Amino acid sequence: HCGGCMVGCRHNAKNTLDKNYLYLAEKWGAEVRAEANVRDIRPLYGPQPDQARYEVVYEKITDLVFKRQTALRARHVIVSAGVLGTVNLLLQCRDETKSLPLLSRRLGYMVRSNSEALIGVTARTDEQDFSQGVAISSHFWVDDVTSVEPVRFSPGSSFMRNLMLPLDALQGNSLLAHLGHTVLAGVKRPFDFLTVRLLPKWAEKNTVLLVMQTLDNRMSLRRGRSLWTLGKKGLVTERDPNQPIPTVVETGRKVLNSFAEKVNGVSWVGMNELMNKPNTAHILGGCGIGGNEANGVVDINHEVFNYPGLFVADASVIPANLGVNPSLTITAMTERAMSRIPKQAEAVTPAPLQKPEGLELVQGGNGRSPMKAFPFLLAFVPLTLFFLFKAFKR
Ligand SMILES: Cc1cc2nc3c(=O)[nH]c(=O)nc-3n(C[C@H](O)[C@H](O)[C@H](O)COP(=O)(O)OP(=O)(O)OC[C@H]3O[C@@H](n4cnc5c(N)ncnc54)[C@H](O)[C@@H]3O)c2cc1C
Repeated sequence: HCGGCMVGCRHNAKNTLDKNYLYLAEKWGAEVRAEANVRDIRPLYGPQPDQARYEVVYEKITDLVFKRQTALRARHVIVSAGVLGTVNLLLQCRDETKSLPLLSRRLGYMVRSNSEALIGVTARTDEQDFSQGVAISSHFWVDDVTSVEPVRFSPGSSFMRNLMLPLDALQGNSLLAHLGHTVLAGVKRPFDFLTVRLLPKWAEKNTVLLVMQTLDNRMSLRRGRSLWTLGKKGLVTERDPNQPIPTVVETGRKVLNSFAEKVNGVSWVGMNELMNKPNTAHILGGCGIGGNEANGVVDINHEVFNYPGLFVADASVIPANLGVNPSLTITAMTERAMSRIPKQAEAVTPAPLQKPEGLELVQGGNGRSPMKAFPFLLAFVPLTLFFLFKAFKR
């Protein structure tokens, strides 16, 4: 076992989505459209010749400037873009393109991080090779709510260290204090600092400890501008005022320090702690299941309130911090929701969508979007004229 499952597979042996679900879906007649970024979902109100109820507009992500747009028509649409993709897309549809204005106001709330922390230990010597073995082979509960999973990486897979700092560098309560202590730690214990950040054989000497909790804490996602979106409109997070996600998981710290002692290693934490921000590899929630649109975005069958035939099936419907890795739960809940959609042979033709009173319609369109090219063309015209003028003058 090479320990490389976390960062793709050098032996083409990893059982990834394109080898299981997507492969099987294609066998059953599904068509996979790659490089497609969905930008809008538009309801089609009233009877349609093909009984379609929605138009899904996507653009080709590999087009550099003028991104070609294509519109697909469908009776049912299942959004599975992950928390960040699904919440972002649906917020855009509700508040910006206004194609789905009746989406629940709960959209983007109750987003969870699995209450986790990615921390670890890098040994000071290379006496023991931690990179050999299955990437994740154990998982233990420290108390009723906290579990820890040691994770190994394969030799050469050490880019992640660029996001880490020795634990003792992080003292004080402000960013300035953290930065000062980071410099001080580098000067006082340069070998420890370099062991975490620079010296060779990081993967061989390193163990990541993934700490996860079932505790209930949360944040929300909304569309806005921040430093991280470089001033452009994008997804931004907001801390929950009553149950904020902690930056530091104290129980994890205890495990970290005793592990470091055992292997003569340097404890490290993520640089996110410099800014007092939690990190996660397991973001969950944002499209909660509820009894009605006032307390959820989707119903118990994952169908979106006010939009029959539109479903959400991904981590955004997970209703709690699981305290363990979430893929199997996401898969189980998705399989359950999909099992409630009738098979094609048994399906009845769905009733057309009724346009709610007073709603303004948004029209869809195929092919290249000339409006997107307009600002660029406007910039090109005076530039071209200027250069032509210069050339003729000469
Ligand atoms: C480094 C790392 C390691 C992990 N290891 C484990 C593990 O060992 N075990 C475990 O259980 N979990 C693990 N996870 C978590 C797990 O990968 C996720 O929880 C899970 O993949 C989420 O599934 P999902 O279907 O919600 O979204 P995703 O798997 O993220 O799928 C969403 C897809 O939608 C696409 N998309 C997004 N927006 C759009 C759009 N607008 N148009 C078109 N497509 C779009 C994305 O490109 C993506 O392909 C790990 C996560 C990370 C980051």
